[in-house]
Amino acid sequence: MSFSDVLPYEWAANVEAKGCDVKRFGWAVLLVAGCALVALGSAPVLYFEGLVWTQAKVPQVEPRPDRARGHWVDDYFLVESLDDHTFAIGEPRYYQGNYSYLLIGADRALLFDAGSGLRDIRPVVRSLTTLPVTVLPSHLHFDHVGALGRFERTALADNAHLRERIVAGELTLTRYEYLGALDRQSPPHFRVDDWWRDGEEVELGGRSVTILHTPGHTPTSVSVWEPRIGRLFVGDFLYPGELYAFLPGASLAAYEKTSRRLLWLLPVDVKLYAAHMQEPPAIPMAPVMAYADLQALLGVLASRSAASFDIQGRYPQVYPIRGPMTLATGFPWNLR
Ligand SMILES: [Zn+2]
Repeated sequence: MSFSDVLPYEWAANVEAKGCDVKRFGWAVLLVAGCALVALGSAPVLYFEGLVWTQAKVPQVEPRPDRARGHWVDDYFLVESLDDHTFAIGEPRYYQGNYSYLLIGADRALLFDAGSGLRDIRPVVRSLTTLPVTVLPSHLHFDHVGALGRFERTALADNAHLRERIVAGELTLTRYEYLGALDRQSPPHFRVDDWWRDGEEVELGGRSVTILHTPGHTPTSVSVWEPRIGRLFVGDFLYPGELYAFLPGASLAAYEKTSRRLLWLLPVDVKLYAAHMQEPPAIPMAPVMAYADLQALLGVLASRSAASFDIQGRYPQVYPIRGPMTLATGFPWNLR
């Protein structure tokens, strides 16, 4: 083989004139190909670092919306009663519009998601109950773990990989599990008191909930199921916006498997309470999704490669699902 076999004539002549040899050229090609493979294999991490590089900033409190469902307990937190013992605690002035949920039993309360941490959620929770509180994050991204370790107990999804990282009773989150560099936050460490298994029933006193492990958005995502009332608190698995299935830890196979399981398990009239409100100009309120939204999500997950969707973007690729809900995915080999 000579340079003229693989390069344009002028280029090959130039290379040969400079005394390069085939061996050196081969190494250069291998190096470029290797870098390309590493980049493709690490796309979720590289994309995240690109976001941090270009967009990371300390979040500012957004202007207070003119209208909202619920009542303001201060100038930041919005509380909406789902019933006499269940409250949605919204942060519509945080740019991600997070909602956490407080479920109060006769003996203790469960706080599902710990707030974004931009403001302290504890006084709001204490204004709603004097009972001991166990806080359970739907997953470990920065916008859901603000007050972990700051209530009586902290619970996590039982997971061997998380358990083996406990040091002196505390878990320290990793950069790509937490993703808080986007808000210029460092990964926190916090005490873990309870590890809740998939299917475990948690008794709050005259009120029990079932913990469901619902991986997809992250490997250790959980949901809280209340069969007596027909409510599933579903975290970031589903919400009226762009579902992120392209960042480190996301898995499309897990997303699909969990969707099938939930559709099999849940009644068709289930209410799915999500962790992010619909973006303005929608009125801030606890985001409620329906069984049909879950069906539509599975429809897209199961037929992405076959169907002709109106896909937006290259990375991530954004698929329409239903209403304001879309699915943002990366390369299939990163998301198995
Ligand atoms: Zn989130």
